[in-house]
Amino acid sequence: MTKLCVAITVESLDQALAHAAIAAERGADLVEFRIDTFTDDVAAVEQLVQQSPLPCIITCRIKDEGGDYDGDEQTRIAVYEHAGLQQPAYIDVELVAYRASANIRQKVKLVVDHPKQGKSTDTGLILSAHDFDKRPTDLYQRIEAMANDDACRVVKVAWQARSLRDNLQASELIADQHKPTIALCMGEFGLPSRVLAKKFGALLTFCGLDDETVTAPGQVGVAVMKNLYRWDALREDTQVFGVIGWPVGHSMSPAIHNAGFDTTGYNGVYLPMPIPPEYEHFKATVGAWLDYAPLHFRGASVTIPHKENLLHFVREEGGEIEELSARIGAANTLTRRDDGSLYASNSDYAAALDSVCDAMNIARDGVKGLPVAVIGAGGAARAIVAGFAGHGANVTIYNRTVSRATTLANEFDGQTGKVEAKPLDELTNTQAKVIVNVTPIGMHPNVDACPLDALPDQLPGVVFDTIYNPVETKLLAMAKQAGCKTVSGVEMFVRQGATQFELWTGKIAPTDEFRRILLDHLGG
Ligand code: NAP
Repeated sequence: MTKLCVAITVESLDQALAHAAIAAERGADLVEFRIDTFTDDVAAVEQLVQQSPLPCIITCRIKDEGGDYDGDEQTRIAVYEHAGLQQPAYIDVELVAYRASANIRQKVKLVVDHPKQGKSTDTGLILSAHDFDKRPTDLYQRIEAMANDDACRVVKVAWQARSLRDNLQASELIADQHKPTIALCMGEFGLPSRVLAKKFGALLTFCGLDDETVTAPGQVGVAVMKNLYRWDALREDTQVFGVIGWPVGHSMSPAIHNAGFDTTGYNGVYLPMPIPPEYEHFKATVGAWLDYAPLHFRGASVTIPHKENLLHFVREEGGEIEELSARIGAANTLTRRDDGSLYASNSDYAAALDSVCDAMNIARDGVKGLPVAVIGAGGAARAIVAGFAGHGANVTIYNRTVSRATTLANEFDGQTGKVEAKPLDELTNTQAKVIVNVTPIGMHPNVDACPLDALPDQLPGVVFDTIYNPVETKLLAMAKQAGCKTVSGVEMFVRQGATQFELWTGKIAPTDEFRRILLDHLGG
């Protein structure tokens, strides 16, 4: 079973033992003591091993391999010898140092378990190789050298990932080895290798005690690994989902979907998937993830700037595209069905439509003939206009750049409902029953901004602001005070996520849980 190992930078004996105790409380199986700058007091290093509340790895990492040790090799190896005598679970020595000196090999072999070891010891040797810049060109030769050394119990490689595809290579390396293996990708592209280490059957993955005390780029805290990424529930057959965007680091989608998997008992995990904006990156990465069968990649939320790329990709792959998504020209949901076929759809328009319908207590077809004012003519407005007009509403688009509103109106006018365009300053005269803001006006940090100085004389029944941060924008506060029904962007976000969740899992999405998580996060 893959272990969760918390890496601890040792500053003092007391600090390291205290951190190890916290790691144990938080559910770690193992700790790695990084003694790079704690080599002066060998007696303290021995005590560290003796008193550790969890089995431990002793590592004194040299600068060339990303560590902080800059003393001489004799001292370093002497510390390893002392630590080794106390029988830690493992000691970690870099392949490059191990190969460079017969003396080091001999000293290390004195304290680790191997076929020619004369005395009884349980300590295993981890041979490791790191590259903080790229995947090393001689990665496979290095792995072979480690695996073929009779004293090596564990092969460890870590490299800076250049794309999400590197994670697949890490998985293949683990599958190919006859010895226990740790293969991790570093940096923002490498998170999947850290989380999915358990799915891929690695010996262990590394975490920080918390998100701030990590020892390598891309590591996350143990609580994030356990609670957000569902460490305890991960299995070889766990289905993988993600949010594709650029940037994608602050997306709240992993929080809601992973919580949804927990609540419904679905065997899935949901990860951030950063992909650079160009279509070639999207195609190469998503294609590789879909092709790699052991990954069980089943779907993704797709956000800016990839919504058009998703349509293009699914079309090229011969998949199915939801009719309204094709008309909108953008999709936000990729689904791989049980038969392997791809489906691209848009959960934004239905989320917006249903948020308003629920507030008015009407069914979707109840919007027929309803006058709706949409503020904005960008990507999200496009989906919302298509949704309302497609169900027969009479939509007026108010936009700063009128020509953009006119182009959008001409595209969707007459398909079912009427669509026309007007300049933003005419909004005060609107007689619409529903006003929808689809611009960033009023979004954090510009919370005092508002698309309207005052509500129109003929008050709308419902005011819907697609912004979710803050939960109550100035526009919504004004509308609430005037007695209108108000709908926040949280509602739209919850519903678009719920539609995706249900499409992927076949289970009813726990929308109250989604809402609670978002409101907690946003302080609403
Ligand atoms: P977009 O494509 O960049 O479009 C932005 C729109 O806002 C354009 O119409 C733009 O007018 C207008 N705009 C921007 N700044 C303005 C200003 N200072 N004054 C007047 N008009 C301004 O963005 P988008 O993807 O459509 O997203 C728009 C908003 O929708 C986002 O800010 C987000 O809050 C919200 N949204 C919410 C959800 C949800 O789930 N709740 C989902 C998606 C989007 P011009 O044409 O004149 O530039």
